[in-house]
Amino acid sequence: MDFEKITDNCYALFNGVNTTAFILPSQVVMIDAGARRPPIEMQAVRRQIESLASQPVKTVILTHFHSDHTHSLPFYSDCTIIASTRLAKHLHDAKRKTLPGFPVVAPTKLFEDSLELQEGTVRLVIRRTGGHTDDSSYIFCSKERVLVAGDNLMPGYPWGGKGSSLHQWIRALQEYLTLDLDTIIPGHGPLMTKTFVQDRLAFMLKVQATMQECISQGKSEKEVLAAADAISYQKPLSPQAKPQVLRRWYKNWEHQ
Ligand SMILES: [Zn+2]
Repeated sequence: MDFEKITDNCYALFNGVNTTAFILPSQVVMIDAGARRPPIEMQAVRRQIESLASQPVKTVILTHFHSDHTHSLPFYSDCTIIASTRLAKHLHDAKRKTLPGFPVVAPTKLFEDSLELQEGTVRLVIRRTGGHTDDSSYIFCSKERVLVAGDNLMPGYPWGGKGSSLHQWIRALQEYLTLDLDTIIPGHGPLMTKTFVQDRLAFMLKVQATMQECISQGKSEKEVLAAADAISYQKPLSPQAKPQVLRRWYKNWEHQ
């Protein structure tokens, strides 16, 4: 698997789970570490981007705590690992087994809601919005006009983890649309544009309005979920994914 050039100073690896690399004047900043892979493959990933950039990877920024984005952190144990405090807590609580012979690597630089990383004329803005999970964050590079959205964007029916909030997810998508960008790198799947975000936002707003209406009419959970389920959209990852995320959005309705 090879990194693909997205812009002059941005590369991405589409390896089932997407990993992005921004080339800054004195370092490479990786967004997400990637899923569990054989060590030889992960070492090659790091070597490849360092050779393309002629710079070492010194920083890794995590979009959220799920293992497919954080499992390969041991290959970046010498780097500054930036994450939200929520992400760090989730990662700690998950107590996942690390690769045999590799250290447990935890975030080293934490932020609550946002953080900026500036080097020369390049600025990376990191914002925690929630949505897919309550620690979901995006990274925006205005110079490269690239947004790295993590799993708030991926093809198919949106799927959210335990802390998924429909309201926060909607606000995150609305925020993406305000950014001056050309390219969106989702958590999984090919590059996206704002058209995809608009389409997803329209769907989520429809689900929100439907649930809101049912709730205000005093309908039962079963009725609310059935009404939301009737709104057609893209195919879910698995048959369980759709009812699962709708239930989470309903249960987390108050988390606004
Ligand atoms: Zn993922």
